[in-house]
Amino acid sequence: MTTIAFIGLGNMGIGMASNLAKAGSAANITEVKALDLSKAAVLRAVEAGCVEAANSKDAVSAADIVITMLPAGKHVELVYGSEDGVFAHAKKDALFIDCSTIDVGTARSVIAQAKDLGFDMIDAPVSGGVGGAAAGTLTFMCGGSKDAFNRAKQVLDIMGRNIFHAGDAGNGQVAKVCNNMLLGIHMIGTCEAFNLAEKLGLDAQTFYDISSTASGQNWSMTSYCPAPGPVPTAPSNNDYAPGFSAAMMLKDLRLAQDAASSARAATPLGTQSEALYSLMEAADKDDLDFSGIMKLINGKL
Ligand code: NAD
Repeated sequence: MTTIAFIGLGNMGIGMASNLAKAGSAANITEVKALDLSKAAVLRAVEAGCVEAANSKDAVSAADIVITMLPAGKHVELVYGSEDGVFAHAKKDALFIDCSTIDVGTARSVIAQAKDLGFDMIDAPVSGGVGGAAAGTLTFMCGGSKDAFNRAKQVLDIMGRNIFHAGDAGNGQVAKVCNNMLLGIHMIGTCEAFNLAEKLGLDAQTFYDISSTASGQNWSMTSYCPAPGPVPTAPSNNDYAPGFSAAMMLKDLRLAQDAASSARAATPLGTQSEALYSLMEAADKDDLDFSGIMKLINGKL
């Protein structure tokens, strides 16, 4: 039987922890201990079947697996490495799974510290958003040893549908930032194409019908069309309510730029995408869905 500690029960963590608690003994899970700085977040987790942890020691000292879902690298460093953190209180053979989206350098250094202390740890950032977290259909991109990945898979399978081992420590974060940089780039390109088509007298539906079966076809067009109309479920038909906010896209584009700069990789379109999404932030519109960058492109922000 497996005891789990889940730290970070925000928009994503709550759905993930709830699914683990729901899976319960049928999945060999004894209990899911819930820890967050926010009391309200912990109470939501308790309502979903988790057990409130009084503090970090209470959360992790009996845990076979510790899962974290935190905002950024500095929170991950603190939660694992501080005097009262996970490393200080975890039992000897515990496995750590960090699902937060953080910078590659911090992911690699925290996993190296865990290894030095004799713990198994993987980075396992996700894609699929709040809906995927609640439905248990996330995609996990994992970095770390094959053994640690195999140990983690039993619980990742409960929270997700596609579980990938991307290679050594930090490679999950590499896959995540590269994927999201590409997503930001093709979203902006798709906005430009729909805007130009309209200015030249071609309506969105007709352009969609043609381009979605031609070589311009891409996910931003067919699943998340930034022009209202062609894809009924897209945020563009709901005043660009998120979804995946422009602020979250900007966070990932900044991580991609930091990584590109440290790897000396040329990413001119990634750089432009970050600059354009930072204009959404400057205009205080980064709470819109990331497809809302259409409004910046067509001058309606
Ligand atoms: P969130 O801000 O809603 O949740 C983070 C939680 O961590 C909060 O409840 C906060 O109180 C808690 N926390 C912070 N510091 C803590 C500490 N020291 N100890 C205990 N708890 C602490 O964020 P989210 O939307 O759930 O995202 C979490 C991570 O998942 C981020 O790295 C994000 O980039 C990534 N992500 C989010 C989405 C999404 O659609 N929201 C999609 C994919 C990936």
